[in-house]
Amino acid sequence: MNPYWLEDEAPPRAAQRHAGRVDVAIVGAGVTGCSAALRLADAGLRVRVYDRRAVAEGASGRNGGFALRGGASRYDVARETYGAEQAAGLWHWTERALDRMSELAGDALRRTGSLRLAFDEEEREQIRGEYEAMREDGVGAEWLDQLPDEVPVTFHGAILHEHDGALQPARFVRRLAARAAAAGAEIREHEGVDDVAALDAEHVVVATDGYGHGLVPELADLIWPTRGQVIVSEPIDRVLYERPHYARQGFDYWQQLPDGRVLLGGFRDVSIMDELTDVEETTPTIQASLERFLGELIGEEPRISHRWAGIFGLTQDMLPLVGRVPNHEDVWVAGGYSGHGNVLGFACGELVADAILGDTSSPQLKLFEPARFFA
Ligand SMILES: Cc1cc2nc3c(=O)[nH]c(=O)nc-3n(C[C@H](O)[C@H](O)[C@H](O)COP(=O)(O)OP(=O)(O)OC[C@H]3O[C@@H](n4cnc5c(N)ncnc54)[C@H](O)[C@@H]3O)c2cc1C
Repeated sequence: MNPYWLEDEAPPRAAQRHAGRVDVAIVGAGVTGCSAALRLADAGLRVRVYDRRAVAEGASGRNGGFALRGGASRYDVARETYGAEQAAGLWHWTERALDRMSELAGDALRRTGSLRLAFDEEEREQIRGEYEAMREDGVGAEWLDQLPDEVPVTFHGAILHEHDGALQPARFVRRLAARAAAAGAEIREHEGVDDVAALDAEHVVVATDGYGHGLVPELADLIWPTRGQVIVSEPIDRVLYERPHYARQGFDYWQQLPDGRVLLGGFRDVSIMDELTDVEETTPTIQASLERFLGELIGEEPRISHRWAGIFGLTQDMLPLVGRVPNHEDVWVAGGYSGHGNVLGFACGELVADAILGDTSSPQLKLFEPARFFA
């Protein structure tokens, strides 16, 4: 079945064509590639984007639609790993990115906030630690002991992240692509790239996240393709979830859509090794777990309207890689968001574009430096 998000009609887009060599060729027309293309085209560069499929048909049109600030790790874990200044800096940087997304997204982004839930007492301790670390470092968050009564499942406390939102990701990325094209970027759909060295461009940006594994051999062991699966119910006639919810370390995530459907993704941990793959298909084991839990979430036997799989890029330290690929003077990468790329992907597309334009002042470039994996 097709991802629900991709059923939305794509907006019209200017058909740009550049003759010959361009300043920047971008591989991948998801959120990263389109965000980079917009930034570069706005700065007056000649940009060409290639995608084997169409705009947003990779993870950017197959995800859960959570627009969350921060990185893929819990805040307290991030703080312990790379320090309070960098962690708080990263969270605030993504909050600003979310604000810019709001300006571009129109009705594709609803600033609903999100709820990070504790599934049991042990998880409550963990997220309570996360909440306290955030408060100590001046990163806004609210603690909730109880969820609204109408939610049929018991949870053990939650963090309310007011800044977050619910995204129609395909609609958002297609709008970004239309803006990039209006600014002069050429977007070539259904045109795969097999060799980045063969592209006629001063710079190449690899924006393929979990897809395109092996395109740049140096990245093959650093960004691992990982599968996520999603189901969507037929509309239900009551509002149970007013904002995106996620629990069990983010393994399970769900939100109710404006038309009453409930989207649920996750349960990757049910067969975690099988999900380290770039085969974009659903599996009976995970689909059965999703269906069972969706039934609990809505308090009735779910009627499923959509199911799909998508691939995201996982990294060893859960931080993306953004910058030059070592040993390749003119090849750049932005990807490896570890399942957290709606906001990070947008922000990292801009970040890699700024670096190409000569602005390397952002502390995030240091944090995301690909060279950290090349000792
Ligand atoms: C099931 C699932 C649920 C998720 N849920 C969330 C969520 O709720 N919130 C969140 O923040 N993140 C989520 N993510 C992660 C998020 O979707 C991704 O991190 C983000 O979309 C990555 O965007 P991107 O543009 O970098 O890559 P993609 O959107 O994957 O785009 C990469 C593009 O590159 C193209 N490509 C690859 N190789 C080539 C080649 N050789 N030549 C030409 N084109 C090529 C592909 O066709 C694809 O269109 C989820 C991911 C999945 C799979």
